[in-house]
Amino acid sequence: MKSAPFLGLAEALERVRGTPSKKEKVAVVSSYLRGLGPVDATVAARIASGRASERGSKDEAQVGYSTLLDVLREVTGASEGDVSKSYLKHGDLGEVAEELLADKKAQTLFAEELTLGDLDEAFARLRSAKGHGSASAKKGTVKSLLLAATPLEGKYLVKALTGEMRTGLVTGLLEEAIAAAYGLSKEEAARAHMVLGDIGAFAGRAAAGTAASVRIQPFRPVNFMLAEPFATAHEISERFGRTVYAEYKYDGVRAQVHRSGGDVRVYSRRLEEITSSFPEIVASFRGAPGDFILDGEAVPFAGGRPLPFQLLQRRLRRMEDFEEAAKKAPVTYFAFDILFREGEETVSLPLSERRRLLREVVAGTPARLAESSDVRSEEEVQAAFRRSRELGYEGLVVKDPAGPYAMGKRGGGWAKLKEELDTLDVVIVAAEYGHGKRAGVISDYTFAVRDGGELKTVGKAYSGLTDKEIDEMTRRLKEITVKDFGYRRQVRPEIVVEVAFDSVQRSGRHDSGYALRFPRIKRIRTDKGPSDIDGIGEVERIFSGQKLKVDEA
Ligand code: AMP
Repeated sequence: MKSAPFLGLAEALERVRGTPSKKEKVAVVSSYLRGLGPVDATVAARIASGRASERGSKDEAQVGYSTLLDVLREVTGASEGDVSKSYLKHGDLGEVAEELLADKKAQTLFAEELTLGDLDEAFARLRSAKGHGSASAKKGTVKSLLLAATPLEGKYLVKALTGEMRTGLVTGLLEEAIAAAYGLSKEEAARAHMVLGDIGAFAGRAAAGTAASVRIQPFRPVNFMLAEPFATAHEISERFGRTVYAEYKYDGVRAQVHRSGGDVRVYSRRLEEITSSFPEIVASFRGAPGDFILDGEAVPFAGGRPLPFQLLQRRLRRMEDFEEAAKKAPVTYFAFDILFREGEETVSLPLSERRRLLREVVAGTPARLAESSDVRSEEEVQAAFRRSRELGYEGLVVKDPAGPYAMGKRGGGWAKLKEELDTLDVVIVAAEYGHGKRAGVISDYTFAVRDGGELKTVGKAYSGLTDKEIDEMTRRLKEITVKDFGYRRQVRPEIVVEVAFDSVQRSGRHDSGYALRFPRIKRIRTDKGPSDIDGIGEVERIFSGQKLKVDEA
């Protein structure tokens, strides 16, 4: 089948961009897609979503601004001045391309019509251009496309290559349009899209009429099921009202393990392949029976106890060699679910059933099954929670034995109970104007604790307040300014806030010698004054109680 002209897609996208109505955006795209075969639908949906390659693919086809600008100048004969003027006017490289191509000095003589297939081939060439000479190869590819493009095509081509569509066609609407074009229900569309993980692949299957039969497959990671947070054991027992599994909440890295044909691969929560970071997991499952996909947590574990999670971060950032890492913080995989077994999806089976399959797979491997106990009453949940904390785990994930594996959903049968984060009451001593959306307000606060008669800074918080609270803060901070350094102000220590944080580390950045990690403001303590704030002793106590004591890098 001959590939469809790219112009049709560019025109459809221009109409989508021109209407604020979501309904109309969906209608335009779905009627456009209806005329396409599977291959074209794949390319068109991908471009409409602002991508020139499959989601999760190792190689990207995106092209940098400077290359695009160079090519645009070459193709259109525009000067640097023309380009800057146009960019200042539009603030969008796609629109710059459209304007410059429309003014093009030398018109192409034999303009061949660009098809979606041409774009697909060109994107593949861009993805495969690597190493020496790749810059000029990419430039050549982009140039030949732009030479053949009309101004409108050039605009959407450049938008796809920069990933900046700005048509207001968010993924949800595009999914809806694909469903409408090919007669799929909302549920069928959502499921097929989720399992395939790429809007283009989904559109292709929808156009071919095979979207309803999309199944989970090894080496195609699927979105993880997530747990809904609960504050107390009481709420959890109320929520379920029957006997449930209380599993320990392991503090490590979530990992999906796929095995097929003797090959084992590991994927992260962001669906990236992380196999090379976890040689122990690969080794654990090399001799396991058959094909499967497991969900679980990679936990640094030694001597029957978990080690601090931070020990894994270095290996994920690929900062050291894995042999060394594996010795310092060996990883055990704690499996808690199974999504696929011997050619069949298992996500729709009840958890009790999946557990049975999981046990068979894990038995005889060095991996372990997540530990679990049956609980029902508030007291039982509380007791399980305490046991988990005593053993060094983070808390509990409580699961409904009858529930399916709800891919990509939070809640739906899983509830988590964690210990509250530490908090400190601190006083604001300095503040700065924010950036971007917060450029006009004072939204960054440096805060301090008491040290005898002095105040010592321990951190800086940017988040936690509502816009209204930030406006009020801005007004008050201006009133109590002692010294105005322009973007930064020193203020009288009067405003007390309660900050929550993940941990304390030693740091030379603040005069207390400590820094709070990821501090966020929990609330403004209007009920407290500067004499009520916490002292440095409290910071030291939290620091020395931590499992892992980190010095700032
Ligand atoms: P949170 O990161 O606080 O949202 O908690 C959810 C995370 O807990 C999951 O994404 C998993 O990485 C982790 N986790 C640890 N143990 C379990 C378990 N037994 N079941 C499910 N998730 C778990």
